[in-house]
Amino acid sequence: MNILQTDIQFVPGVGPKRASILNTELEIFTLEDLLRYYPYRYVDRSRLYYVHEIEGTMPYVQLKGRITAFETFGEGRKQRLVAHFTDGTGFVDLVWFQGIRFVESKYKRNKEYIVFGKPSQFGSKYNIAHPDIEDCDTPDYRPEGLMAFYNTSEKMKRSYINSKTLNKMMEGALGMLKERIPESLSPNVVETMSMIPLHDALENIHFPKSPILLRDAEFRLKFEELFYIQLNILRYSANRNAKLKGFVFTKVGDHLHSFYKKHLPFELTNAQKRVIREIRTDTASGKQMNRLLQGDVGSGKTLVALMLMLIALDNGFQSCMMAPTEILATQHYDTFKETLADMNVKVALLTGSTRKKARESLHAQLLSGEIDILIGTHALIEDTVNFNNLGFVVIDEQHRFGVVQRAKLWTKNERPPHMLVMTATPIPRTLAMTVYGDLDVSVIDELPPGRKPVQTGHRYEEKRGALYQFLRNEIRKGRQAYIVFPLIEESEKIDLQNLEDGYIRTMEMFPEFKVCKMHGRMKPAEKQEEMRKFVANEAQIMVSTTVIEVGVNVPNASVMIIESAHRFGLSQLHQLRGRVGRGADQSYCILVTPYELSTVTRKRMAIMTESNDGFVIAEADLKLRGPGDLEGTQQSGIPFNLKIADLVRDSSILYRAREVAEEIIEQDPALEHPQHEVLRKQLSRLGGNRYDWGRIS
Ligand code: ADP
Ligand code: MG
Repeated sequence: MNILQTDIQFVPGVGPKRASILNTELEIFTLEDLLRYYPYRYVDRSRLYYVHEIEGTMPYVQLKGRITAFETFGEGRKQRLVAHFTDGTGFVDLVWFQGIRFVESKYKRNKEYIVFGKPSQFGSKYNIAHPDIEDCDTPDYRPEGLMAFYNTSEKMKRSYINSKTLNKMMEGALGMLKERIPESLSPNVVETMSMIPLHDALENIHFPKSPILLRDAEFRLKFEELFYIQLNILRYSANRNAKLKGFVFTKVGDHLHSFYKKHLPFELTNAQKRVIREIRTDTASGKQMNRLLQGDVGSGKTLVALMLMLIALDNGFQSCMMAPTEILATQHYDTFKETLADMNVKVALLTGSTRKKARESLHAQLLSGEIDILIGTHALIEDTVNFNNLGFVVIDEQHRFGVVQRAKLWTKNERPPHMLVMTATPIPRTLAMTVYGDLDVSVIDELPPGRKPVQTGHRYEEKRGALYQFLRNEIRKGRQAYIVFPLIEESEKIDLQNLEDGYIRTMEMFPEFKVCKMHGRMKPAEKQEEMRKFVANEAQIMVSTTVIEVGVNVPNASVMIIESAHRFGLSQLHQLRGRVGRGADQSYCILVTPYELSTVTRKRMAIMTESNDGFVIAEADLKLRGPGDLEGTQQSGIPFNLKIADLVRDSSILYRAREVAEEIIEQDPALEHPQHEVLRKQLSRLGGNRYDWGRIS
């Protein structure tokens, strides 16, 4: 048996009890899992500090000196032990809240120790709570070298598994290896990248022999991680392209022509034209198209989708468009109906609130092919919905949909339809390559002419008066406004209360205007009625949650006030802001927060006021929050779990990994070359459970 697959409980220092904690807390089951649990930082233990050098901002400090006295304070559970420690340049207090008896008996006064820990400042004095203490003359003490630190959970700490324990386990695991760990990359890859062998990388990631070897180890492991993701994506799409034949849309027929000539309300932007060309080439090629259409809010994606659906129709196919909310689906439906008014195209709407009878007749008309274009919500993917010949599928605001839902649309036909996935959430390039690496990407990077960039400001809650005056002036000019409140599931009750309070306050503040409101918990009919009032300008102010975030289009609304803006993510703020600035008037977005804000939050507000560019904002978001939190990854249903690589910091490694993977797949798409056997095996191990890319599009 491969020693790497050894059950973790047999590793020295683990045992069955700790093994079960490692299983549940860190998903570590085998010796290899353990070795692949990487440290999150290193501390240079070769450096000794003097007590007088200690500053409040130090993450850790290592001292050499003596304990002069012990003192106990407090009683019972509040008891703490303090040891006065000095190296001749000053004093620090070492403090324990637990294991007091043990500490007192273990360490002696006036004996020399090495003390290691994080200093905290109390007035002019420092103390170190629960320090690591080592005898200068024990074999354990390694005076030089980088020491690894590991993340641990509360539960692990309660079972006495801390970073140091993990470090000991790593030592035990490496000690068990009688032979070198077999390579996990093919020799040509290791050689091309001049990387160190896996064995050395794993040794040095846990016990770096030098800073240079640590860097080499990190590079090797990061590369490997990113490389396999890319290899998996590329192999999958090579495979799919070889297998799947797509419908061929060759004709440009009457529907598109008459739309273009008579109904197109404005000149297309160059970006819109280019994207339509790209998609037409793709859908005429015989391949099945899988394309991501990125375009900032207001860039006119809907129109592009509509024209492509007409091309599908000209070629004898039905198409459908799935939107994430009922409001949005209804709005698309209304726009399509209006735009296609006197054309012979049958458009239908299917949502959760479509009545049973209407639904049944709709099902029948879909099967018979009577309906040309179907617009709807999740209701579209129910098993009862079947088409006569579905050729083209559009998914709007895709980050709202999970992988499984997309896969379902894909299987509605024997032959999969062309898929266009539209998003206004700009995905930074590194992330797109990792999460949507097998989709082709089109970008609308141009807004329709005449748009004035939204002016964004940041105001404090305490100064609402001036804000309201401004709002009043804008509405008097004939404009409309949104006031948005956060709604976070965990605090839903409070949030809804805030919204209600805000609604009432707004009505009281503006008796001369009509106010409507909208949140996800309202009945569909109510929502529609409130939306209708706002669209018709029967209400001038809409108080709402983020339900209006996606897609809602009311060009006359030119002011957006976002309450508690600090509670929103940057990408979400940008999405929200996209609801204004859709008409010819100057639009404003005002972020309202309390005065007290953390530095990061203040930075986030500043990014919003300084930039209108979705890509800039998404990059900044990725930097501030990390990809795990980025909208679009969490909800995409893809287990996104990089162990060592970082999509921001390691982008250049990612690009290299992509290139190397591309070369390999180009030469050997099925990885049949003997040299690539290790890649194939590793892929099926990783791909089997972790990245099920096959289902994504
Ligand atoms: P998004 O890309 O955010 O979905 P929409 O498709 O909702 O944007 O378009 C935003 C607005 O811009 C709509 O009112 C639409 O009619 C308008 N629009 C789209 N394309 C053009 C264009 N080429 N010129 C002028 N206005 C356009
Ligand atoms: Mg849209």
